[in-house]
Amino acid sequence: MAVNLQKFQELSTLCKSNNATLIAVSKIRSAAEIKVLYDLGQRDFGENYVQELLEKEELLPKDIRWHFIGHLQSNKVKYIAPFVHLIHGVDSAKLLKEINKQGKKLERKISCLLQVHIAQEDTKFGFDADEITAIDKEAYPFVTIKGLMGMASFTEIEKIIMQEFDVLHHTYEQLRKSDEKVDTLSMGMSADYTLALEKGSNMLRIGSILFGARL
Ligand SMILES: *Cc1c(COP(=O)(O)O)cnc(C)c1O
Repeated sequence: MAVNLQKFQELSTLCKSNNATLIAVSKIRSAAEIKVLYDLGQRDFGENYVQELLEKEELLPKDIRWHFIGHLQSNKVKYIAPFVHLIHGVDSAKLLKEINKQGKKLERKISCLLQVHIAQEDTKFGFDADEITAIDKEAYPFVTIKGLMGMASFTEIEKIIMQEFDVLHHTYEQLRKSDEKVDTLSMGMSADYTLALEKGSNMLRIGSILFGARL
């Protein structure tokens, strides 16, 4: 078990002073590792796989706020809809429609972030920035769009990452102008969270540096 307690304290403090939320990305980590951070006061955890999330949700305390940060298939929405705190990777109208459908069944408004494709790699999912303002929110009364999420290119060239974060931040500000419920910009991972905070992120998704390298 390898939880980096010093890094955790450091990131918690950094997030507090930036009014940002720290999400501990716990994919592939055990329930016991999650519990170590929980006992230190961490409540927001991010998971990428539905089955794994369901297993952990059952084992762990009910006041954990579970963030689904992976690519979500429409046919799996129903499993997480009853309890998920925030779905970060909403990347298609089809998925929005399905989340709305499950929310309606449960009479629960489900909070979501729209994923914006900002990286150069075409393997990453998401809407293009210019598609975001065209999304008809009225069509999804059981979805609350809280903001945007994005991932920068996997590169060490800071200039590229900064440019991509700028695009995301700008798109976020545009969306926020027209919708007071929008207050979340999920941007920044282990390798680029400092740049992300500089560029206006208020939600970091941090895995590897909190837990040590995944084996
Ligand atoms: C795994 C993952 C993270 C965390 O990445 P680290 O580099 O381990 O901090 C953040 N966001 C998403 C979408 C992920 O899949």
